[in-house]
Amino acid sequence: MRTISPSELTDWTFCQKYWYNKRTRNLVSNKISHRDLAAMMGTTVGYAMDGRYRGIASIECESYFWDLVKEQRSLGRTWDYGIEEDTLDRVLEKITNHIETLMTYEDQWLEGATVIASEPIMEEWGLARQDLVVETTTGAGRVIDFKCKYSDKATSFATSRDVDLYGNQAMLYPIAWNSQGFPLKITQMRFVYVVDGKPPIIEDVICNPKRQAKWLEMYDEACRQIYQHEAHPEVPLLENPYHMTPWGPCEFREYCASGEHEQGVLNEFIQVERKEKG
Ligand code: SF4
Repeated sequence: MRTISPSELTDWTFCQKYWYNKRTRNLVSNKISHRDLAAMMGTTVGYAMDGRYRGIASIECESYFWDLVKEQRSLGRTWDYGIEEDTLDRVLEKITNHIETLMTYEDQWLEGATVIASEPIMEEWGLARQDLVVETTTGAGRVIDFKCKYSDKATSFATSRDVDLYGNQAMLYPIAWNSQGFPLKITQMRFVYVVDGKPPIIEDVICNPKRQAKWLEMYDEACRQIYQHEAHPEVPLLENPYHMTPWGPCEFREYCASGEHEQGVLNEFIQVERKEKG
């Protein structure tokens, strides 16, 4: 039986139809949006940091980013309204700044901890990946996750949106690691929020076993519902009545509102095999 990642859980609990459109039909908009660029930015920063902790001498971030862009363009996707040539240059600049910020302030967010694993894959948890697993100087296990902000207006502290979005990671990533039988047990999760031109903000979440048990129950229940849906796809899926994601209006809003493929709105999407982490 396939396994479910924490981010798949987020999609399912946000809106079952969203989960279906994204993860069963593999639909993506035929436009490359700022949100896509933000994801490419985060992936490129993650690639650079992974290279650093794996001891890879030459990390070509710029060409890595352009390859991500080319890959999307080769699918036939075009630029969304408002994205110009210089937008991409600005994203690259941001990538460079974020990497520099993380390296400059490494002493603050790593605090002398020993890196145990970089981008480890959680096989039993839908192949979810964690940025770094470290052992602190006091011997505690900690997951470190980089949250690179894309917007120039972003705050460098965690907003309530961040807390909502990353709450499941804070509780489930440590459980995922601990369930794999490694000697180091994770008891803390550290989010490192990175914004242009400021020191990163560090947010620590101590893993409370009672809260984790509740998240695990929710995770198990969502997995049960997903497997049930996969066995009985004829049962209608629930909708999120607000149609708003944490990033703004849901990308499928016209598709869902129009009566779906009957209206031809499907032409605005393409089907793509998912590769993103988690
Ligand atoms: S538009 Fe609404 S119902 Fe459709 S996928 Fe998005 S949130 Fe769900």
